[in-house]
Amino acid sequence: MTTSADTHCPYCALQCAMTLTSPTGQAPAAQPGPVPVTLTTAPAAPLEVQGRDFPTNRGGLCRKGWTSANLLNHPGRITEPLLKGPDGIHRPISWDQALDLAATAVKDARTRYGADAVGVFGGGGLTNEKAYQLGKFARLALGTSRIDYNGRFCMSSAAAAGMRAFGVDRGLPFPLEALDTAGTILMLGSNVAETMPPFVQHLKGARDAGGLIVVDPRRSATAAFTADGGGLHLQPLPGTDLTLLLGLSHVVIHENLVDTAYVRERTSGYSAVARSVASFWPERVQSLTGVPADLIRETARRLAAGARKGGSYILTGRGVEQHVDGTDTATAAINLSLLLGLPGSARSGYGTLTGQGNGQGGREHGQKADQLPGYRKITDPAARAHVASVWGVPEDLIPGPGLPAVQLLKSLGKDDGVRCLFVHASNIAVASPDANAVIEGLRSLDFLMVCDFFMSETAAMADLVLPVLQWAEEEGTLTNLEGRVLRRRRALTPPAGARSELWIMARLAERLEAPSTYSEDPETVFEELRLASAGGLADYSGIDYAMLDRGDAAYWPYPAGSTGTPRLFSERFAHADGKAVMTPVLPRRRRTPADSPLANIADAADAKPFTLITGRLLEHYQSGAQTRRVAALLAAQPEARMQIHPAAAAAMGVAEGSFVSVANERGEVVCRAELSTAIRSETVFLPFHFPELESANRLTEAATDPISGMPEFKFNKVWVRPVAAP
Ligand code: SF4
Repeated sequence: MTTSADTHCPYCALQCAMTLTSPTGQAPAAQPGPVPVTLTTAPAAPLEVQGRDFPTNRGGLCRKGWTSANLLNHPGRITEPLLKGPDGIHRPISWDQALDLAATAVKDARTRYGADAVGVFGGGGLTNEKAYQLGKFARLALGTSRIDYNGRFCMSSAAAAGMRAFGVDRGLPFPLEALDTAGTILMLGSNVAETMPPFVQHLKGARDAGGLIVVDPRRSATAAFTADGGGLHLQPLPGTDLTLLLGLSHVVIHENLVDTAYVRERTSGYSAVARSVASFWPERVQSLTGVPADLIRETARRLAAGARKGGSYILTGRGVEQHVDGTDTATAAINLSLLLGLPGSARSGYGTLTGQGNGQGGREHGQKADQLPGYRKITDPAARAHVASVWGVPEDLIPGPGLPAVQLLKSLGKDDGVRCLFVHASNIAVASPDANAVIEGLRSLDFLMVCDFFMSETAAMADLVLPVLQWAEEEGTLTNLEGRVLRRRRALTPPAGARSELWIMARLAERLEAPSTYSEDPETVFEELRLASAGGLADYSGIDYAMLDRGDAAYWPYPAGSTGTPRLFSERFAHADGKAVMTPVLPRRRRTPADSPLANIADAADAKPFTLITGRLLEHYQSGAQTRRVAALLAAQPEARMQIHPAAAAAMGVAEGSFVSVANERGEVVCRAELSTAIRSETVFLPFHFPELESANRLTEAATDPISGMPEFKFNKVWVRPVAAP
């Protein structure tokens, strides 16, 4: 029997709409027995994928979306619980055995070390229902405060800056289609032409009008896209985005481009910001960032002119946010937008581009260390009382704030740290900063349980691996980069042995005799989420499955009885006085090559220092645990390659395709070189989708932004030298 379902892509936050059609309605027979870590690729997909018309993607999909169904019958799919034996080999066990083992491990850790010895690491790919239930499960069933998720590595700086300035954090506080008619768009640190290609259609209007301005140390595909229309590409030194933004604000103020009425009526903090940018005149900023002073002036002028005509938008992405000063950098971008009167204007705005599929919803429902559902602060007594009443438990049963992701990972195996860890929708052995240290931490755990559908590098280290459903096999909701809630629909019968995380949490809660209830039905969980979110910043109380199934646009906040909020801030910001807060921020000293000793490089004489930036490729998603298993994607990008400028390569005798060692005090990567004039000559680039010897996160620093907990992914000092093939 043919079945089909309208749903959304399993990967990024654009959540492109697609229709899945199955000729049989069944997933093919799964492969039983031990599952190798070795990568294999799938036979033909059991589902046909068609792009579906939707405001964000208008029928378009990228290569990842078109091939997304290929994972559904992958021969490496895990379909039985697997227990690692003393010989290191995973062997199938029954679900009852697996759940009993997990419950016993939790009880042991709690008895020996206390409740906070149990930790949970979640993911921005979980549906809203799972993210909500995971936060509740961790705090009530496991009794731990130690839950955080990989969104800490993704959106946390922009989220913190949004909360600071606007009192609320919604990635795009306006529908994506609003960009279509913008005269000017300043895009900082985002390469959407590769990471979410259907997005580019929303930039074409500004591009054709000469109003697309891209800030990126590399001439990325998005930066190259500016060229045809006469747009601008600003190519600053890595780590100087904040300085550049201060320079832009300086020009806006000193050329009288400020929207003074807006600043007076809708913001606070102007004077302090004006003083803080006074010394960042364009020629000085040029000397610090490498961006010509004329380009800085021209950018500020185009933004101001755009705001007066078709509208101006400022958008930030991970390139400027994944820094130890990421919150301040995003704040500087917001300050600039407020000086120009953009946020809340009918045709202008500021936004940040959420990356993971449910990166937005994933940070609203309680899987963050410091939050409860509805984007509530866990330290707020009123928030605790509300959520406790929905959960039917005393307030004091809800633990206080836990550890942000990097600190949680640093605590693994420590006496006062996490000894028993549950991992959901994350491949932390590859995707975390200072990955070698994380791997050591995982090895030192008393018990590691991973829920996944593939034997990811993290799952391969686990004592217990539990097979879960893939996207096309489950129901639920996700929230896209616009804050719009979408339905994920089931198109396939899952393999017999796989289970939903909701089912797993429900069964474990029974074994742990947990307070409250844990439904395994997504719609029932969503109904509870509605109640828990009511009155919070991210209020979903007016949203239900029926309206989502009708295709109604559901932008939060959507209190019961309202019609939702496609555009935020039209009347007021979310602070008590209704004003946006401008906060003065200043650059901090950055690391230099002298801070990066050569201790672990055997023969350093021929090594040269570079700044490493990490990022994404069109063909891969996150740690690559899924996309490295898709034949077409792997064939197109089979390995990590270090991008380096030809002049820098020639100076070291590095040729196209030859091997290089990229090293610092944290580790070493060995991979091929890719020569490109798209990158600055003192900078190298590595994608982070690959494991082991090619794992870029062996080199990234686990220092974090003091406000958001964001690690330093985009500014690391490394030493590069040519080496023989490994
Ligand atoms: Fe999927 Fe993102 Fe590609 Fe759209 S842009 S098809 S959501 S990966």
